[in-house]
Amino acid sequence: MSQSEWKRRGILCLVSGPSGSGKTTLCRRFSETDTDAVYAISATTRAPRGGEQDGIDYFFLSREKFEDRVRNGEFIEYAEVHGNLYGTLKSEVIARLEEGKDVLMDIDVQGAAHVRAQADPAIRDSLVDIFILPPNDEELLKRLSHRGTESQDQLDLRLRNAREEMKYWQDYQYSVISSDKESDFSTFRSIIDGERCRSTRMFK
Ligand code: 5GP
Repeated sequence: MSQSEWKRRGILCLVSGPSGSGKTTLCRRFSETDTDAVYAISATTRAPRGGEQDGIDYFFLSREKFEDRVRNGEFIEYAEVHGNLYGTLKSEVIARLEEGKDVLMDIDVQGAAHVRAQADPAIRDSLVDIFILPPNDEELLKRLSHRGTESQDQLDLRLRNAREEMKYWQDYQYSVISSDKESDFSTFRSIIDGERCRSTRMFK
């Protein structure tokens, strides 16, 4: 078949949901299996959990370095989550969207609100947002405690934050009610596939 002369602007896809919703895994897996998608690695001041690597899972920064970068205007957005700073660097997003890549961002509800409020039309026009909802409270608790990487205090904080975050699911264009990993992944893929066909993203 001859090559298509159509091009497409990239999607900026915000993915939120409570801890344990599987949003990070979904974003990672999608970006690893789809050549048009990339994962935006966030910066954070939280300490790495076992096995996490700098520059792969996060850019791990001291609070001082993080705040320097805020002052330099290097972030699209940042927010304090669970007592630590998390933020998305412009360098992880802007050039990639311009290349036509779809950029996936794992982001909390405050960060998502900041991105939606951006004045830059390149960001606003490319936005898609998805909320991953646990099917019920029992499953939310199970998933939070199964991770096993946090102290009881951290777990309690995450549970409180999860309940708080879930109040915002209706601010998102799409909601995925989580069931098993494979069906969550296939629903996620369907949303992105549909969004890739929007006429407004296409040009010659
Ligand atoms: P965790 O510490 O479990 O990796 O992430 C905690 C929370 O921070 C999650 O809700 C995650 O979505 C959020 N988060 C991760 N990266 C960013 C970011 O770049 N900006 C914002 N606002 N939140 C983020």
